[in-house]
Amino acid sequence: MIDAPQHAGLASVLDYSSEQSLEPGALVRVPLGRREVAGIVWRGLAARRDSGVTLRGVTEVLEAITPLGPRWMALVEFAASYYQRAIGEVALAALPAELRRLSAAQLAARVRRAQRAPESGPKAVAPDIALAPEAVATVRPLLTDEQTRALAAIDEAAQQPHAAPLLLHGVTGSGKTEVYLQASERSLARGRQVLMLVPEINLTPQLLARVAQRFPARRVVAMHSALTPAQRLQSWLVAHAGMADIVLGTRLAVFASLPRLGLVVVDEEHDASYKQQEGARYSARDLAIYRGHLEHVPVVLGSATPSLETWQHARSGRYRRLALDQRIAGATLPRVQLFDMGTLPRAPGQALPALAPPVLDALRERVAAGQQCLVFLNRRGYAPVLHCPDCGWKSDCPHCSAWRVFHKFDRTLRCHHCGLSEPVPRACPSCGNLDIQPIGRGTEKLAEQLAAELPQARIARLDADAARGRGALEQTLGAMHAGEVDILVGTQMVTKGHDFRRITLVVAVNPDSALFSSDFRAGERQFALLMQAAGRAGRDAAQASNSRMWVQTWHPQHALFAALRRHDYALFAERLLGERQAAGLPPFAHLALLRADARDAAIAGRFLREAATLAATLQEADGVIVYPPVPLPIARVADVERMQMVAESASRARLQRFLAAWTPHLQALRAQSKGLARWAIDVDPLAI
Ligand code: ADP
Ligand code: ZN
Ligand code: ZN
Repeated sequence: MIDAPQHAGLASVLDYSSEQSLEPGALVRVPLGRREVAGIVWRGLAARRDSGVTLRGVTEVLEAITPLGPRWMALVEFAASYYQRAIGEVALAALPAELRRLSAAQLAARVRRAQRAPESGPKAVAPDIALAPEAVATVRPLLTDEQTRALAAIDEAAQQPHAAPLLLHGVTGSGKTEVYLQASERSLARGRQVLMLVPEINLTPQLLARVAQRFPARRVVAMHSALTPAQRLQSWLVAHAGMADIVLGTRLAVFASLPRLGLVVVDEEHDASYKQQEGARYSARDLAIYRGHLEHVPVVLGSATPSLETWQHARSGRYRRLALDQRIAGATLPRVQLFDMGTLPRAPGQALPALAPPVLDALRERVAAGQQCLVFLNRRGYAPVLHCPDCGWKSDCPHCSAWRVFHKFDRTLRCHHCGLSEPVPRACPSCGNLDIQPIGRGTEKLAEQLAAELPQARIARLDADAARGRGALEQTLGAMHAGEVDILVGTQMVTKGHDFRRITLVVAVNPDSALFSSDFRAGERQFALLMQAAGRAGRDAAQASNSRMWVQTWHPQHALFAALRRHDYALFAERLLGERQAAGLPPFAHLALLRADARDAAIAGRFLREAATLAATLQEADGVIVYPPVPLPIARVADVERMQMVAESASRARLQRFLAAWTPHLQALRAQSKGLARWAIDVDPLAI
């Protein structure tokens, strides 16, 4: 098995000869054309001896590495077939790049080094971690009743070969992580390895520190894309050799080779980052469930706001729901207040203020009392667009169907889609007017306006731009934990996971755009974000009773806010599920997208229409609806026109049968489609 993307039209299964007999799962290096590539001896492939062709020989066997196990291969086979990719592509992509690059001798040296050096003890992970000292409980606390029941259920699942996946549904600060830790402790005591998945690299240092502190004698390794290739290889080797006790990582870690796996945890299971958006577009959460089923180990999905898919499984009894309804130590969730933006008096010709007077007052009060505030606006940059009031010019991107965003700190106009960045023009490029103006507001402008309104407050900003510099993120988080920041302004980056202890006020600025989005998941995502944001306040029980969340909105009557005020996830989930059922959308229907990109939209469109015509001739298309092609919401990115087509079925199995029959035809069709840049199938897409 070699890495040949399905789309390259080259089979990923190739036959080679070998003098010695090779075990399935063995890693080898083989010649391919003039190159030499890494390969895996795959199971269940009978050699085609009678073909009459002389086979090329295996160059070398990577003997220092034990063959990959049958369960690992089964996971890869499932992922390849479910997401319609070649097995070789999925298998090789799941391995660290260095493993594919190095020779047998070089790898043998790395294996020896990995066995020697337990580099991942707490000493190695402790620096560069911004963590509130009080948040780290080195000693295991006494569990609450709810936590005890959850832990017992996980234990019970570990005793059964076919236990249902577990949904640990607990509000933020209800002690979910503590449950993961104690469940891990039991799994480790049984001699098994633990796989913990987190959605974002930013969240790994925090959890890594907590895990390492709790298990100082255990070997804990990280697996995510920010590691150097050498570190990644090291983590992989240690896990594969069974020497790592706990593997903590982002979505790619779901493919870690773990010979003694005993427990899988998926934290913040609803998070969109679990879905890979290129290559094999897998959901690490869904693969984690499948892996648990394959390996007969419990899978714990944790969230305060589960995805509707998971929630529906819990309602129907396919997953077992474990509830943590109370925050730890009597801490309560903040009281949510809505500010109706429609009631602001509007002077003619004047823009509305960024923050309503009562919201500003609340911020001022908290800062004066030495408490911290979080202001959440999900738009980065200074202003989303510049325009010329004279001639109507707008700062559109020449390569994308999108505006370029104005960033004031380095005076650039930047396209967030293709990356084009240029200095802000001094005058309107179309009419020469010197007075070009920003429209709308991003975090940069909001922070500037806040600083003007509250000169005594220490304000910090956290978003993808502010966090770009090396160590910048750690520095801001550290300052926040140390109490050196009064108000933290940021995008969704500030809402996730952080255990800030001193926040008593959270402000959400105009979270309305998602309410009327064409994306059917926008409401679900926005609700989760706001619940997460609310969860940042009042984590310290002593302050919790006076903690608040202010939401500035033009639509205070919206059902989303009614549920938010009550911190009632179930209420909103029921409503959304009702809408999804009526509209025939997931989780009540199953979707796949066929995507096509080309310089010319007509070419992409033609490929999709021909694909639809082909689909209609397939017997397997029975029970599957293929909708007409449409452009993506942002149709053009970097001069490429992007089109897509939805295939839908009430039955997952039928959709799978259809895709399996359709894909080979699409490969053939692609070969005839001149000018098509690329195509891809996205099974269970996040957005349509
Ligand atoms: P979540 O993961 O649900 O946000 P955590 O597990 O991080 O919650 O718990 C929130 C805080 O409460 C943490 O500081 C944690 O150390 C502490 N904590 C968790 N469980 C207990 C417990 N049973 N007794 C005392 N403190 C606890
Ligand atoms: Zn102009
Ligand atoms: Zn662009």
